[in-house]
Parts: sequence; structure tokens; C-alpha cells
Amino acid sequence: MALSDIQDRITKEEARMGRTPGSAQLIAVSKVQPLERVVAVLEEGHRVFGENKVQEAAGKWPDLKEKFDGVELHLIGPLQTNKTRQAMGLFDVIHSVDRPKLARAIARIADEEGHCPRLFIQVNTGEEDQKAGVLPGDLAELVALCRELNLPVEGLMCIPPSDEEPSLHFALLAKLAKKHGFEGLSMGMSSDFERAIAQGATYVRVGSAIFGERDYA
Ligand SMILES: *Cc1c(COP(=O)(O)O)cnc(C)c1O
Repeated sequence: MALSDIQDRITKEEARMGRTPGSAQLIAVSKVQPLERVVAVLEEGHRVFGENKVQEAAGKWPDLKEKFDGVELHLIGPLQTNKTRQAMGLFDVIHSVDRPKLARAIARIADEEGHCPRLFIQVNTGEEDQKAGVLPGDLAELVALCRELNLPVEGLMCIPPSDEEPSLHFALLAKLAKKHGFEGLSMGMSSDFERAIAQGATYVRVGSAIFGERDYA
């Protein structure tokens, strides 16, 4: 089964790099997948899932969380400020904090609700126009703001440009995390998660290699 194959490959790469077993956690990215495939992975015992759209996640996960105990849900896609409250109610971890306005909205809602998800700051390491994420040059300022707001930021996240060697971006993200004192690194997808683990990923986000190709039709 694909899930156990991926888990084996993660374990092997951790061992090859001399890392602690379990130090790279697998987020199964279930966006767009048919419900029966998601249920199959839940029935195998996996509990850590990622979605990239608030609306889509809101349509399936409340039910699935009722049926399966211990689900941990990660938002890995961009977050619009007007969906912040909904996202904070639904997700345990948000990987896409990337601007001051969003950081302030999260802090305000966390105050009101008395609860805040765990957070990652998304960095646009390739400085691509169309991609979400704070530019590397603006990261220090955003980190300072998050600390001032007492936000529970535990690391950095990136999605490398599709036409570049991802390892360079993973190494840059690792360097930025170290500089700012973060332990968490959310990086690596189906095609490159082993390279991400070699560079220190603590979360890899794997979709199609577990569930099969996404059918957007
Ligand atoms: C879809 C998605 C993934 C998973 O991609 P695969 O190539 O299917 O593994 C990982 N990270 C983010 C941010 C995504 O949107």
C-alpha cells in the first residue's frame, strides 16, 4: 500500500541521515481526493492530513473527525484574512502565515477564542510573483511581529519553484529557520520529500504519491 511505502521511505531517509526516527512527520495531503481514498488511509491508522483550501476542508473534515479519533489537520494553502476565523476553528496547524495583516488577524481571533493553532510562516524562497509566502528579505520583520503578538510560530514552510532544484530551496529555508531559532521545517512533496528530509524537514507534505493523481475534472 502506498501509505506504508512512503512511511518506509521516510524512515529510511531519517536513518540514512542519522536523524531520530519519527522526526520527519508525514502530512497526507488529501485535497481533491475522493472521500473513499481518504477514508482508506484513515482506516490504515494514519491521522495527520493536509488540505489547501478552507472551504473544501470544511466540507469533509468535521464529519471525518467525528468518525475517527485523533485527527490532526494542517492548512497548507494560502489563507484569506476573511477566512481566518473559520480556518482557526478547523485546523490544528496553519502553514501559510505570510503577511502582517494575517498575523494580526490570527492574534486578535486567538484572543477572542482563547485558542490558537500551531503556526508556520510560509517563505517564498524562489521570489515568484504568483506564489504566496513572505519574501526572504521581509522575513525578519514578520518574525518580529509574530513574536510581539505572542503567536505560536514553530517553523517555516516553502514550496520551491517547479523548475528549480528543490534542495537549494530546502537548504535556504533550513538556514533561515536556524537564523530565527525555529525547529520546524515544512518542506518536501511527493517528488522530493527525501531530499527535504536530508535538509532537515520536520513535516513533509505528500499527496499524489499516497492517494494517486488528483483528478481536477
Ligand atoms: C498539493 C500540495 C502538496 C502535495 O503535493 P503532491 O505533489 O501531490 O505530493 C504539498 N504541499 C502543498 C502546499 C500542496 O498544495
